[in-house]
Amino acid sequence: MLIVGGTVVDVDGERRADVRIGDDGRIAEVGADLPARNGETVHDASGKYVIPGGVDAHTHLHLELGAVSVSDDVASGTAAAACGGTTTVIEYVTANRGQRPLDALAIWRSKVEGAAIDYGFHMTFTEAITEGDVADCVEEGITSFKLYMAYPDSLQVDDGVIVDVLKATGKHGGLVTIHAENGSAISSLQREALLAGRTGVIEHSRTRPAILEGEATARAALLAEMVGAPIYIVHLSSAPALAAVRAAQERGVDVRAETCPQYLHLDTVDLERLDGENFVCTPPLRDSWHREELWEGLGRGWLHTVATDHCPFWMHDRRIGTMGRPEGWENFTEIPGGLPGIETRLTLVWAGVRAGHISIADWVRLCAEAPARTFGLWPRKGALRPGFDADVVVWDPNREQALDADALHMRTDHSPYAGQVAIGWPSLVMLRGKVVADDGRFVGQTGWGRYQARDQVFHAP
Ligand code: MN
Repeated sequence: MLIVGGTVVDVDGERRADVRIGDDGRIAEVGADLPARNGETVHDASGKYVIPGGVDAHTHLHLELGAVSVSDDVASGTAAAACGGTTTVIEYVTANRGQRPLDALAIWRSKVEGAAIDYGFHMTFTEAITEGDVADCVEEGITSFKLYMAYPDSLQVDDGVIVDVLKATGKHGGLVTIHAENGSAISSLQREALLAGRTGVIEHSRTRPAILEGEATARAALLAEMVGAPIYIVHLSSAPALAAVRAAQERGVDVRAETCPQYLHLDTVDLERLDGENFVCTPPLRDSWHREELWEGLGRGWLHTVATDHCPFWMHDRRIGTMGRPEGWENFTEIPGGLPGIETRLTLVWAGVRAGHISIADWVRLCAEAPARTFGLWPRKGALRPGFDADVVVWDPNREQALDADALHMRTDHSPYAGQVAIGWPSLVMLRGKVVADDGRFVGQTGWGRYQARDQVFHAP
């Protein structure tokens, strides 16, 4: 295929150029006025942008939370991702306490046969591990790891484990990603709220204040600085956490950070709606002024990526909660946390281009190039250079897309953006040279996605 007449935007700049896709599923040529060859399909991208396929570095397509599970599976979630312009996801595997990481990986691998787009895995450790565990994962192409500083009952590790894992992964060229909230302090606030009879949705936010995200982010960066290893903060949601990232960066620490569309577009007002339980995610939505700070962080380069933390639930499952109560959850700690978003990431970040918060080049970097580089998918994903995988999005800046649940492809009955119409949507999406979304419809196949063993991108100092 030859994509002609569009404006190409990637690491090499913004320019009028045609893009030739080779029979091997890679980019063959990018240049001005390429002549079509015999038998080549020509796609007219006039008036549109041609960009590398999106890389979503944070998804949950298989996850059980107590009595409930995420409503998407790998087939439905990856098809939705394709429709929105994302062609690679990195899914979080969790090795629960007492479970060997490779056993957890085997479970996730068995779930992904229906992937419609390419995928990789991060590995989450929930207790002390050995350097051998890290080496085993790196051998499998898993070069990034996750640690939680929150959820003491199930996921949280202490600072000693963080230091151990930073050292072990540093030796193997891996990257530690961190859920940065002070879990013990949050537990104290939760006990206090429940004792006082404060059980409603808004308490989810009040018991997880931004200052505790700031504290944990600063602590994580200090531990990384001490060890001399890089660190990546997932789903950064607030100004204090952003300030901690900036302070560490100014000291020369290699701390990178991700935010998510929900923190750029939603706020605590949504939690006070009648259907507020459907807006519960962690970290929680913040007061609206944090959103301006996050947009500035994206534009200035203090925040590096936008990922979704895609984690949808049926409204019924929200209501019965993690305890599975037919009469409904008893207090806010039982509400399963997470929002749908795998399909709407590119357009919700594009909204920042339209509003003047970030440039078009920033948009491509945040949604494709930076996650590809950070997580060892470069030089295969994240740009339209010859030899890269032909993951290509033709982006129509004027195309309108309703954001209601039934207008989208994610398997969920609730959209946080219901009633809104996005402006800017893919008109064509290709995965390694094959069309997977065309004119807003999914035309790919489950099973087309390939596992992406990821490279080591960091080395011990
Ligand atoms: Mn997550």
